[in-house]
Amino acid sequence: MTAADSMAQRLAAVQHRIRQACARAGRPEDSVALLPVSKTFDADAVREAHALGLTRFGENKTQEIRQKAAELESLALRWVMIGHLQTNKAKDVARDVAELQSLDRVELADALQARLASAERTLDVLVQVKTSPEPSKFGLAPEDLGDFLAHLAHACPALRVQGLMTMATNTDDEAAVRACFRRLRELRDAHRSDAVPLARLSMGMSGDFELAIAEGSTEVRIGSAIFGARHYDT
Ligand SMILES: *Cc1c(COP(=O)(O)O)cnc(C)c1O
Repeated sequence: MTAADSMAQRLAAVQHRIRQACARAGRPEDSVALLPVSKTFDADAVREAHALGLTRFGENKTQEIRQKAAELESLALRWVMIGHLQTNKAKDVARDVAELQSLDRVELADALQARLASAERTLDVLVQVKTSPEPSKFGLAPEDLGDFLAHLAHACPALRVQGLMTMATNTDDEAAVRACFRRLRELRDAHRSDAVPLARLSMGMSGDFELAIAEGSTEVRIGSAIFGARHYDT
């Protein structure tokens, strides 16, 4: 793939690689969902992706969701928040976001619960767990997961827990990356219950999604491999 390839070609290549990774893992070809990550790309890029059949988009800033949702209102897109969220942004999430994959602390859960209750709506959430040693990565400490899920079940009925999310350590060492993904699957197996089966495991990005699929990912979050290289001007 080169920069001259079209978005349609890049998307088809990613979908092909997902199917191949599923086959190698002995998993059904449709067992891994694709979440395109449109952060930093403009509304026109999202419109192009929508024309290719994509309807959910991952973003990491509520402000950016607000702007794109307004520009693309007629398309009825589902915005998925995947970035670190400040507690004072709970109101924006309750208004604009279909799903939150970065729920990582009690304070945020309680703030969302209050906002959602007054908006009389529910929100699908994934609990982000920190499986990598890097201090810069966000997420709940693995040893706190049991207490956190108990808190959600008891105090946050507006939050519908669908599963877990993680980001692997950022390294070329495939064994270290796989260990992060395996850790998330094992945590899921240890904490699932009939009431909260934690069916979804959101793990894998452009650089590591095949390893994530080998370890049981049900959803990969892909930005640059579909939209191209990101340019940050802030
Ligand atoms: C940006 C981002 C992605 C996508 O990253 P790519 O490497 O562009 O695929 C996935 N997950 C999270 C949480 C992100 O912030």
